[in-house]
Amino acid sequence: MSKRDYYDVLGLNKGASADEIKKAYRKKAKELHPDRNADNPDAETQFKEVNEAYDVLKDGDRKAAYDRFGHSAFEGGMGGGGGGRPGGMGGGAGQGDFASAFSDVFDDLFGDFMGGGRGGRSRAARGSDLRYNLRVTLEEAYNGLSKTITVPTSVQCGACSGSGAEGGAEPTTCPTCSGMGKVRATQGFFTVERTCPTCSGLGQIIKNPCTTCGGNGRVQKERALSINVPPGVETGTRIRLAGEGEAGMRGGPPGDLYIFVEVERHDIFDREGVNLQCRVPVSMATAALGGDIEVPTIAGGRSRVSIPAGSQSGRQMRLRSKGMPALRGGGHGDMFIELAVETPVNLTSRQKELLKEFDSLSEDNNPESKSFFKSVKSFWDAMKG
Ligand SMILES: [Zn+2]
Ligand SMILES: [Zn+2]
Repeated sequence: MSKRDYYDVLGLNKGASADEIKKAYRKKAKELHPDRNADNPDAETQFKEVNEAYDVLKDGDRKAAYDRFGHSAFEGGMGGGGGGRPGGMGGGAGQGDFASAFSDVFDDLFGDFMGGGRGGRSRAARGSDLRYNLRVTLEEAYNGLSKTITVPTSVQCGACSGSGAEGGAEPTTCPTCSGMGKVRATQGFFTVERTCPTCSGLGQIIKNPCTTCGGNGRVQKERALSINVPPGVETGTRIRLAGEGEAGMRGGPPGDLYIFVEVERHDIFDREGVNLQCRVPVSMATAALGGDIEVPTIAGGRSRVSIPAGSQSGRQMRLRSKGMPALRGGGHGDMFIELAVETPVNLTSRQKELLKEFDSLSEDNNPESKSFFKSVKSFWDAMKG
């Protein structure tokens, strides 16, 4: 593929003055800026081309070499007078196709790390995501809640409308990287790319930084946010509030706010997904005779439960739909009651007397014990051979 003429790239005639070159470059760079051309896949290549052309034509010596020898002035670092600069900054005019091929690889590699836009050279960096830990009670998780939280965050600076420049002046293209946000260093065959030290990868510098924000385009502030926590949240539920994170650098898009929910332990109810478990102690007499008991529900009410006569410890009973609401709709879970038969303590002598009398009258009242000791006896008999 033959390289386009640098003057053509900028829409100029050969012999254009330094002023004309500068003007043409600004106009083109603005038009082709990747932030404005998200939908135009060719803009990025053209933007690179324009930067490369300007990189050469703005420099008196290199321009003279180009005027005389054309592109061959810079090829392979061997061309005519004034050729390839060591450590080729930015534009890449001094590097052959080998380096360009590498740069594409680097673009892909770095794209994800540098925050924001495709190719990793979004000048206006996206703000960070924020995490806010929210502890709620089980009752709040059951009912859902609305709450105002205070988030320490950074917001767009009002004095400069987020541009970072005093009086709202436009930031200018970084001279070190020609707006690419990255610089390249060639070592032998390899080209290493790294974030531009002058502009920290933003591709733009500010001559007169805003005094309020120091040029960041954002200021620290506590922000009050009202949030809605839906019924059914669990520990680990994340609620995303798009665009409520930190403001971006120099007018970049804001990050998101993530609310991480933690549901506190409850004294009465244990939660297992949408179901609730509740251990209910019952007296020995109630367990033996049967009877009604009242149990609490998470909704704050009470439910009557009939204990069948002869209930053992550990018996499970289900109260349908008395559990937690499902987070994404679809009704409620169940509540399970587990009976814990309580052996009476602190007996009076009269009670002891009654229990002894009861025991002497007991015959077939403890089938589980009877069957257990029968098994034990045959176990021992078998051991004797
Ligand atoms: Zn730079
Ligand atoms: Zn400011």
